[in-house]
Amino acid sequence: MKCKDFVLKLSLYVDDKLPQNERILLEDHLKSCKECLNEYFLLKNLKSSLANLPAQKAGDNFESVIMQKIGDKFQETNFIPVFFQTIKVSLLTAVFLLGVIATFNFLTPDVSAKDSYDNIDALNKYVLKDASACDKIISDLMG
Ligand SMILES: [Zn+2]
Repeated sequence: MKCKDFVLKLSLYVDDKLPQNERILLEDHLKSCKECLNEYFLLKNLKSSLANLPAQKAGDNFESVIMQKIGDKFQETNFIPVFFQTIKVSLLTAVFLLGVIATFNFLTPDVSAKDSYDNIDALNKYVLKDASACDKIISDLMG
């Protein structure tokens, strides 16, 4: 484990809620790491300072006010708008790419279909008309 992993466990350790095997690992690390030991003392001092603060009484409707605010926040971040917000960039990218592909297909002349069949047709006639056509084609291809 790295220091940041130990630091994340310090709060549980200070609250005495860390499982024994992790507590042993952490205590071993604290013996050899000055930075983590410093973090431990800071957290321990913070906890004792907070414990010394006088208790505050919450208002009578504190819980209902908090729950209302949580409910308001939840409605603001409803799932469906967030979902569409998330896929909006992907959708726009897909539409753009389809537009680019369609434009290239529209602007590029379709040489494959008709000309290929014409070439095959011409080759067939050429081959059938002259028996030595294959030799001529091969010699033409070889230069
Ligand atoms: Zn450390």
